Amino acid sequence: MSKDIPTLYGSLVFSDKVMRNKLPKDVYKALRKTIENGTHLELDVANSVAVAMKEWAVENGATHFTHWFQPMTGFTAEKHDSFITPVGEGEVIMEFSGKELVKGEPDASSFPSGGLRATFEARGYTNWDPTSPAFIKDNTLYIPTAFCSWSGEALDKKTPLLRSMEALNKEAVKILHLLGNTEVTSVITTVGPEQEYFLIPKELYAKRRDLIFTGRTLFGASAPKGQEMEDHYFGALKPRVAAYMHDLDEELWKLGIPAKTKHNEVAPAQHELAPVFDTTNVAVDHNQLTMEIMKKVAEKHDLVCLLHEKPFDGINGSGKHNNWSVSTNTGVNLLDPGKTPAENIQFLVFLVAVIKAVDEYADLMRVSASGAGNDHRLGANEAPPAIVSIFIGDELTEILKSIEEDKFFNAHKTIQMDIGAHVLPHFTKDTTDRNRTSPFAFTGNKFEFRMLGSSASVASPNVVLNTAVAEALAQFYKELEGTAPEDMETAVHELIKRAIRKHKKVIFNGNGYTDEWIKEAEERGLYNLVSTPDALPQFIADKNIELFTKHSVFTKEEIYSRYEILLENYVKTINIESKTLQEMLTKDFIPAVNGYAAEVAVNANEKKALIEGLATTAEESIVKELTEASNTLSAKVAELKAVTEKADAAAEEDMQKAAESFHKDVLTLMDEMKDVANAAEEKIPDEELPYPTYDQMLFYV
Ligand code: ADP
Ligand code: MG
Repeated sequence: MSKDIPTLYGSLVFSDKVMRNKLPKDVYKALRKTIENGTHLELDVANSVAVAMKEWAVENGATHFTHWFQPMTGFTAEKHDSFITPVGEGEVIMEFSGKELVKGEPDASSFPSGGLRATFEARGYTNWDPTSPAFIKDNTLYIPTAFCSWSGEALDKKTPLLRSMEALNKEAVKILHLLGNTEVTSVITTVGPEQEYFLIPKELYAKRRDLIFTGRTLFGASAPKGQEMEDHYFGALKPRVAAYMHDLDEELWKLGIPAKTKHNEVAPAQHELAPVFDTTNVAVDHNQLTMEIMKKVAEKHDLVCLLHEKPFDGINGSGKHNNWSVSTNTGVNLLDPGKTPAENIQFLVFLVAVIKAVDEYADLMRVSASGAGNDHRLGANEAPPAIVSIFIGDELTEILKSIEEDKFFNAHKTIQMDIGAHVLPHFTKDTTDRNRTSPFAFTGNKFEFRMLGSSASVASPNVVLNTAVAEALAQFYKELEGTAPEDMETAVHELIKRAIRKHKKVIFNGNGYTDEWIKEAEERGLYNLVSTPDALPQFIADKNIELFTKHSVFTKEEIYSRYEILLENYVKTINIESKTLQEMLTKDFIPAVNGYAAEVAVNANEKKALIEGLATTAEESIVKELTEASNTLSAKVAELKAVTEKADAAAEEDMQKAAESFHKDVLTLMDEMKDVANAAEEKIPDEELPYPTYDQMLFYV
């Protein structure tokens, strides 16, 4: 039975179409103005919108509403209020006012604020973001909001994102006008995040404390088969997975999330979902919802969706590819080379602005993709290296080189030369060669930022991209300001030349997975921020504080608060992992190892009693190896406990030091223990093991 998808699509969204139908004309117009230009919304308009929204929500089964926000935990938060208002004896009506729509005051004092609220007051406020549509989920009307403190400090991930989009808008429009493109009145960034995930049977998940508490397996011997056959990638979907994906698509479509592509990924039990791109803040909201719905739908299918960056050792982890571009209100994608020389010039300016931005703020990009989970991927030969560089392909490299060297562009046949009046090369379209190993790749009409972890909000990486590019454009504007229109092309030519000379070191079209690249990157002076504790201090580097404060994206206090929260989050994560490992080994695994060794010993003795002089070398070596493993693990558990407590104690005084200690001491020891446990596990029959194995988890769906 095929459902009517266009009817289903967005059926739970208070969309533009619903608004047009439900709102009085003048109210609709006023609201559109607010959405498009960010103008202030009058209370009577808000009241009118609230009434229509409530009517629509109630018609669609909603009984409650919630302001939906994105605190700095990276998750979403909500607190539901019902629409009911008592009137008279035992009667209620359903009510919702403009004030309730526009502003909320959740008692949100338990969210991390990195010290921000302590200095002011504990209250936090949520403010409606009318540019991201409201929707219904589980009989509640969800109103996307920004979350800030009484004195206006951003306490969430959305506010800085909106500010960064505004910064880019401002600088992009300015430079476009300077380049003679005066039609454009606003510019937005667009994002399409490709989301990777694992699906495993729920009953197996429920047996592993590590998956439950940390989202990843802390040990587990590899299955005989991993991903080496390359048979899973784009392979046929197993029926249970196909049914899951089908349900997932429908749930997402109802919420107006344009889920488009789905396929199996490289690792066994790994999959991917990609939506059609959208305006950045909407895409960020949608990605948060997508992750949540992915987990929820999995439950229904007796599966668990793992969004952790590295749930299983030895096979690929999960990331998120953040496809990013910039487009104008006139419908032009500024990262599309375009067809005319004028479009080419615009494109080159924006392309070079991105190159400059990435070169100057590579450290911030790394910070934006940091986190305990993602540290297992970056630089581990399956994901981009921790070194940020840009891939632009051979043709664009040639074009930039021709500008840099004042040579005419001598290109492949697909590219048209336009000598004569124009100093800049005219080219049609880059035939985008592919490179899977670059953390930041140009893919024809957008950049793909590939360092992001699968579980994280995509807000931060886009805050960095938007702001860094805004800054590059602002600097370009300054360099070009005052140039007469007839001299503009020459001036742009010179500007690109200077910028390329300065920033070409960040361009790398080769294989990012090799050791040679690590060496070369170092010689080029690029950052190689290997771990989260290495990366985070860059957040508070002077140049980065200057960037964010100049563009009013973060205040200095807001930056420090986020730095603190990220550090603390890292420390807490590894602390939980360590304690979980200790518990699993002590309570389940070591007893299982000892139990099986004892069983083998008893059997060997019985055999010997039965037949005198019988050799039991197989049993003896198992007993010996397992007992040694058990002894080693017991000793290391004690050591791990001590090291963890020490690192955790350091957190009281110096969070940065604690994070470094968790990275250097705790994680290193946990890795050693994992190897010992895995070697022991290989010698024990599955039914004697306390936990489901990699074989079972990865191949039995
Ligand atoms: P690729 O083959 O390069 O991965 P796709 O066409 O499959 O490209 O797109 C991958 C993702 O990039 C999708 O989510 C898509 O919507 C998104 N995307 C395409 N164009 C843009 C754009 N202009 N801005 C942001 N994202 C985009
Ligand atoms: Mg892609």
